[in-house]
Amino acid sequence: MKKVLLAEPIDEAGMKVLQGKVDLMISPDPSGESVGRLLKEVHGLIVRTATKVTRSIIESAPHLEVISRTGGGLDNVDVETATERNVVVCGVKGPQDRFVAEHAVTLIMALAKQIFYLNKEVRKGNFKSRYQYRPMGLIGKRVGVMGLGRIGTIVAEMCHHLGMEVWGYDPYLSSKDLHLPGLVFTKDREEMIKTSDFLSMHVPLSNETQGLIGRKELSWMKPTAFLINTSRGEIIDEPALIEALQQEKIAGAGLDVFAKEPPEASHPFFQMENVILTPHTGALTRDAVAQLAEGAAQNTIDVLEGRKPSYSLNWDEVLRKKTKG
Ligand code: NAD
Repeated sequence: MKKVLLAEPIDEAGMKVLQGKVDLMISPDPSGESVGRLLKEVHGLIVRTATKVTRSIIESAPHLEVISRTGGGLDNVDVETATERNVVVCGVKGPQDRFVAEHAVTLIMALAKQIFYLNKEVRKGNFKSRYQYRPMGLIGKRVGVMGLGRIGTIVAEMCHHLGMEVWGYDPYLSSKDLHLPGLVFTKDREEMIKTSDFLSMHVPLSNETQGLIGRKELSWMKPTAFLINTSRGEIIDEPALIEALQQEKIAGAGLDVFAKEPPEASHPFFQMENVILTPHTGALTRDAVAQLAEGAAQNTIDVLEGRKPSYSLNWDEVLRKKTKG
């Protein structure tokens, strides 16, 4: 039987797919060191978010055939090294899309309505906070959706139904690819950032998108605008965002993801009233967690048995290399 290592426990639904088909091992923790130590005999590795699958980890696994993630973002895996060594890197797209979109829209609405501030004030006995008129209506407010892939398009659709004016920017798409009601598809990134009341990020993390929202882009935003990030922390230059928030160059932010997860206890975000934070839970509904674990487990079995996984960044290339010999 082939051996599969889980970098950390996965949902029962995924365990059911694996049991009886492979020899299972579970790492005591998801750190690179612990996972790397256990990889010598392993054919398949299943990771969630916490494990960075680096070159040295992949090189410590001579029998490795597949790295499977319980999600769609594969930025925590060194795909180049994996491809060099004919290791298939795969993930699961689909079950989480709507939940992440809901999370982004919830952050937009919570920021607009100042839910977290008002909740705190009421509990303190400050019922008079109702006269500060902090909530904002969404009708006619402009949301700029950066990245119109699986999640961004759902956010755009939801915001349209909320009566917002929806702008979208995606350099890899043309207006012919998109059939979204009410969408203003723009090629002018700067104008979108300058005019949005809410800027919502939905791009994958890559060398190109790292620091995509930096000091310059933050300086373009309106002082009344909010930044929402449910994609990956590193796409925002975090020190620049901290500065923009501290100096009130923007009105606030809703963040599900961070440059370092979890953030240090001393992180300045924790002291900021104009920021809403969630612990990378956009996709983590009970239903999605089960489906993602099941998908990652099935992808692992599929690759180990020679079948194409549901989503992979390098399946075709690895197959081509293997058949060439
Ligand atoms: P996707 O690949 O379907 O769509 C991404 C879109 O971004 C593509 O259309 C692409 O053309 C576009 N894009 C690439 N570079 C761009 C740029 N420089 N500017 C604007 N657009 C650009 O991805 P998805 O499944 O919609 O995921 C979006 C993000 O959400 C990813 O970062 C993913 O890792 C993240 N995600 C987060 C959670 C969570 O729990 N918070 C869960 C799932 C996915």
